[in-house]
Amino acid sequence: MASQQSERNEIERLDREYTLGTWTRQRDFDPTQIADTEGPRIVTAEGDSILDFSSQYVCTSLGYDAERVCDAVDEQIRNVPYVNPGWATEPRARLSEKLAEITPGSLKKTFYSTSGTEANEVAFKIARAYTGNHKILSRYRSYHGATAASLSASGDPRRVAQGPEIQPEVPGMVKGPDPYAYGSSLDPDKSLEYIDEMLELEGGTVAAVLVEPLVGSNGVLTPPDDYLPKLKQIAHDHGALLICDEVMTGFGRTGEWFASTLYETEPDIITMAKGLTGSYQPLAATTVTEEIGEYFEDNLLNQGHTFAGHPTACAAGVAAIETYEEEGLVENAREMGEYLTAELESLADRHPSVGERRGIGLHQGLELTRSTDERVPFEERSDKVSSNTTVLDEVGAHALDNDVYFYTSVNTIVVTPPLTIGEAEVDEAVAALDEALEISDDAMDA
Ligand code: PMP
Repeated sequence: MASQQSERNEIERLDREYTLGTWTRQRDFDPTQIADTEGPRIVTAEGDSILDFSSQYVCTSLGYDAERVCDAVDEQIRNVPYVNPGWATEPRARLSEKLAEITPGSLKKTFYSTSGTEANEVAFKIARAYTGNHKILSRYRSYHGATAASLSASGDPRRVAQGPEIQPEVPGMVKGPDPYAYGSSLDPDKSLEYIDEMLELEGGTVAAVLVEPLVGSNGVLTPPDDYLPKLKQIAHDHGALLICDEVMTGFGRTGEWFASTLYETEPDIITMAKGLTGSYQPLAATTVTEEIGEYFEDNLLNQGHTFAGHPTACAAGVAAIETYEEEGLVENAREMGEYLTAELESLADRHPSVGERRGIGLHQGLELTRSTDERVPFEERSDKVSSNTTVLDEVGAHALDNDVYFYTSVNTIVVTPPLTIGEAEVDEAVAALDEALEISDDAMDA
């Protein structure tokens, strides 16, 4: 695929003219039309078939051939397309039951919304109501959403990059360090001690500690195995709940249904979206423990959305989970994850600009460096709109020229293919990366 197309077709021109693009200066918004999809591939209007090795924004976990989901949506939309959340529908009831089954431990009751952002905002409200505290402690290298509170809880550099246009943070958001052994001088165990100390100093005012169990768009950071259980204990010692944001890591991506399970931790609240429907419909969920659910029997849950528990989206959710189960996709993520790990490790050995491979299952990333010894990232783009480095963007563009798409973020190539992939697709993607990484090797400090 030519990443710089010479001529735009009518759809691309219309889209450019009348749509406000996300996270970008509008003069840089120049999208290529996707007119078709097949398996793990997107197909441009010009007929270029692109292997998607990031599942878009780590969300199209089922690829594009999930017939069962399409049929379920089709049937539901013709039957009961919508009623307000005050009515019961079969897809919502079945999905809630299913989520209670696949989420860890005593997590039981689910509140629905339509984006990961909202799922986190809902979690904050629930944690505040339940604990009587108001602060949320999150970490610097994190992304939790794009509206007021979830954005304020995010430490993503995109917030900084927007400079004065950014909205002021909502009060009560506290941020602590995260475990990042490769790029930080702070020992991961020390980062936990800091959080413990911070909670102590906040004096029992924190409602919840919010983390991505494996950080996603801020560099695919893998914590030590005992980090999450210890964090939960520390949170509870200070009267705070543990919220695990599994918007990216949920639904089999790490080779377990949830990354919390991987780390043998039962969060008090778990938030999810993306893989919940394989992104066939916009749907997000905030699931709480039985105990928290019971608290709201007599206390007001003062929250709601017109589209909460949208029947068509819930039907997609039920069918998506059945697809993960019947096609053994969680197991496939584990097995293919081992194969992918070996292949990426070999890439990292061959390319000095790959500082570190990180991740588990099909949630992987390659962090680039311009100096192997000093572990420093390439320079950030001078326009400051994107937190990406120019070199990282060039590596991504080169892979795309060879018809493989990688989402790139904060000096990291995000390697998160659909859970349906096999070895042949891993080989294809790794070959494209192998070639593209020559660009970053050449750009390293002399
Ligand atoms: N949490 C995490 C961990 C995410 O990765 C994202 C989106 N990338 C969000 C929350 C926000 O989800 P959404 O874009 O659906 O609002």
